[in-house]
Amino acid sequence: MELLEDIMTENMQETLSEKLLDQPLAETKTESGRQWLVKCPICYRTCYQSWEITDWRKEKLDWFLCYCGSIFREGLARTDIYNDEYIKQYKEQKQLNTRIEYLERLYLSLIEELTYGRRFLDVGFTVPLFLERLKNRGWLTQGIDLLPNNGYITGDFATYDFGIQRYELIRFNDVLSCFNDPVGAIRKAYKLLAPTGILMLNTPDAKAIYLLQHPIEFGHWGSQHRVFINQCQLRKILKETGFEIVLSWLNMAERLFSTNEIHILAQKPEIRKEREIEGDKKDG
Ligand SMILES: [Zn+2]
Repeated sequence: MELLEDIMTENMQETLSEKLLDQPLAETKTESGRQWLVKCPICYRTCYQSWEITDWRKEKLDWFLCYCGSIFREGLARTDIYNDEYIKQYKEQKQLNTRIEYLERLYLSLIEELTYGRRFLDVGFTVPLFLERLKNRGWLTQGIDLLPNNGYITGDFATYDFGIQRYELIRFNDVLSCFNDPVGAIRKAYKLLAPTGILMLNTPDAKAIYLLQHPIEFGHWGSQHRVFINQCQLRKILKETGFEIVLSWLNMAERLFSTNEIHILAQKPEIRKEREIEGDKKDG
């Protein structure tokens, strides 16, 4: 484990674009057929152990298992699937409104105790149901999505310039696995959060595949996803970025977003100014 941690720490200091995207994928021919040698988007190891999975669109994709615990797909995440049909299927999810309500009930009172301001950014929200709930609680809300939505930002969180805007709450609802560079997205969220701000994140847990009877029951396979990280690794990445973990657990129930997913609340520490600390000393 020490060796793995050394590799992770060293490699996480470099961005994916520097180490991975600039390198073409190497294809080799084997006796059994095609074999891709690709690099893990999280630890940059070369991987060759793959599974062929047929997703819910009947599309066959090769998924690679890395020594670090990540599972990732060949090629980059597809964005052309975000269309009217995608929105329709999203809205047809079982008990969509109940799940949103449960999410609000479970987490928002805690989040509102942990941070002072009320500026919220929902990343990849698809339908602004959670945004509307937070607006009703008095939050100043903003959302960004690749799908056009009236009144919200249409764009890619990874490349969009937010300028000097900062937030007390940023939500990644099932989007971390869709970034080509998930570590870069976490670092960007950290920069965009105000001190004491919270990153609210749910994402498929790579380890959950082994808790199920068959990989196909994992249910998250699809070309919009790029990489699944496990809970232990994700906590490590968040801590390396500077976050403190408020809570972290694996949800296997259907009443929340979503089954087989890690739920994490991570907080950007409060950075206290020297003069405030001096003031404390005087008061003390
Ligand atoms: Zn890896």
